[in-house]
Amino acid sequence: MTDNDPATQQLPGARLGSASTGAETGDLAQIRAGTSAIRAELRAALDRATDPDSAADTRSLAYREAAYFALDLRDLKAGMEHALNCLHWARVSGEATVQVKAHVTLALAMMESYDDAGAQREFMAALILAEEIGDARGVALVAVNASHFELERRNYLQAAQHLLELLNSASMQALREPDARGLWETFHINFVVSVSETLLAGTELDPDIKALLQAAEGQLAVSAGVLAAMLSERHDRSLLETAAVLDALTRHALWTGDLTVAQTLADDHVRLTGEADFPLLYGRALLDRSRVYARSGDLERAILDAGQAVGYFHEAASELWETRSREQLAAIYARGGRYREAFETQQEVTRGMENLYRDYHQQRALVRQIAQQAREAEVRAEALAEAALRDPLTGAPNRTRAMQVLAELHARARQGHPSAVALLDLDLFKRVNDTFGHLVGDAVLTRVTRLLSAELREQDLLARLGGEEFIVILSDVTAQEAEVVCARLRETLQNASWADLAPGLVTTGSFGVAVLDGQQDITGVLTLADRALYAAKAAGRNAVRGVPRPAELVRDP
Ligand code: GH3
Ligand code: MG
Ligand code: MG
Repeated sequence: MTDNDPATQQLPGARLGSASTGAETGDLAQIRAGTSAIRAELRAALDRATDPDSAADTRSLAYREAAYFALDLRDLKAGMEHALNCLHWARVSGEATVQVKAHVTLALAMMESYDDAGAQREFMAALILAEEIGDARGVALVAVNASHFELERRNYLQAAQHLLELLNSASMQALREPDARGLWETFHINFVVSVSETLLAGTELDPDIKALLQAAEGQLAVSAGVLAAMLSERHDRSLLETAAVLDALTRHALWTGDLTVAQTLADDHVRLTGEADFPLLYGRALLDRSRVYARSGDLERAILDAGQAVGYFHEAASELWETRSREQLAAIYARGGRYREAFETQQEVTRGMENLYRDYHQQRALVRQIAQQAREAEVRAEALAEAALRDPLTGAPNRTRAMQVLAELHARARQGHPSAVALLDLDLFKRVNDTFGHLVGDAVLTRVTRLLSAELREQDLLARLGGEEFIVILSDVTAQEAEVVCARLRETLQNASWADLAPGLVTTGSFGVAVLDGQQDITGVLTLADRALYAAKAAGRNAVRGVPRPAELVRDP
């Protein structure tokens, strides 16, 4: 019973941190109350997410919850938006562990909208970040959710590989901490499903993978034991958790060949979900049991359950699952030799597939649009951030940017790499305005910026502090070298031709140089440079002055 086996369906989502695992919210009462309760939870999460008084990490985590609630409501567009906001606020918070979670959330939102490449990319981003910062819990979170993703796609072997890799890594330890219990349990559920199904499929495997799976069989028994223990305390658990455990254990029993146990578990699963008035879960339980019946050769009952599952998925408006159950039904008909029914059912599968493709393309177009808008917003935000650091008149870096660079160089100076700064104030600039007009004054400021910037090295900076005052920041130079550079800049101004702006116009500037040596703070250094500038003005302008050297100070009374 291998090739023709009708049944390879997926498990009810064991995605961690989602409402639908019951890990955070979904208790039985809520499921009974259904979507209106989830809607209320979603609104509450969004209230917290949009509260401007909250810290960025709090907002990120609230958006994360909102994303999962929206996905549970099958609102993929909203789910995507909330996931993107979750990542945005995670970045604002600057906390890497929050960013790891956000990338996982975005991966799951992409998975739901069938952007598999996007989902893989986000899982990878989460993994790289988690490994970079040594966040073992984050690594485990990624592995468990990546396995969930593969299970959703019925890629059992890939799902198993994610979990086996985690199992053999040091990060596994993080799952054993008491407050990681939900993740730890999800690991075992996904492990039992993925390994049992891979073994059941029994297809020819790569010898390496075969060896890996053989090694995993010991762990499979251990994990099945964990699930059995979870089942024995089912009164404390949500319906979703218990349903996921029953589903996993049924698959395990099919693998061990214990059809009586499989039957008992599958009956239990059907009974439990039948009580809950949740057609999606009930349909999955019926589909599971249909498979068990088919395995034991009871095709009549297998057909009955699969047929009923079709109806419940239809009621739940889950076209994907409706199509999957029809597929299973068609396979069972065929095995029972009922080829006409098999053919008819298969035709309906084809129609269902066509509808799925249509919906899928519509949804993807929508989701893509949102992702595109988010990217554009990011580009705009970058442009704004860039603009915030420039002076609009001259295009030169502004005071804010100068302060950033000074802070960086100050830090370098404290590590033994001093730099120099010079304040430049244009001479008698008021007179330029008064004589030639403000527009000419503006043009002079712009030209000064262009002329002097061209004289500087890549690593230097000329910024406009305001008015006709500039700062020249020269990294890794001494006071003497800086004075030489400023003397050159002074000459450049003096020798430039200004006559094309206004006949008779000349422009000169005075420079005050100080060193950024890590001894003084930035304000202290700027005060010294300002004093030197004052000295240059006092000496008749169009001059460069440095901080008086100790020898000069001695001579000065
Ligand atoms: P000093 O050599 O002592 O520095 O003389 P000054 O005239 O340059 O000094 P003061 O501080 O008295 O005057 C600065 C002038 O710079 C006053 C103002 O008209 C001019 N100014 C400041 N910002 C701008 C600007 O954006 N555009 C123009 N055209 N002029 C500006
Ligand atoms: Mg001035
Ligand atoms: Mg001036």
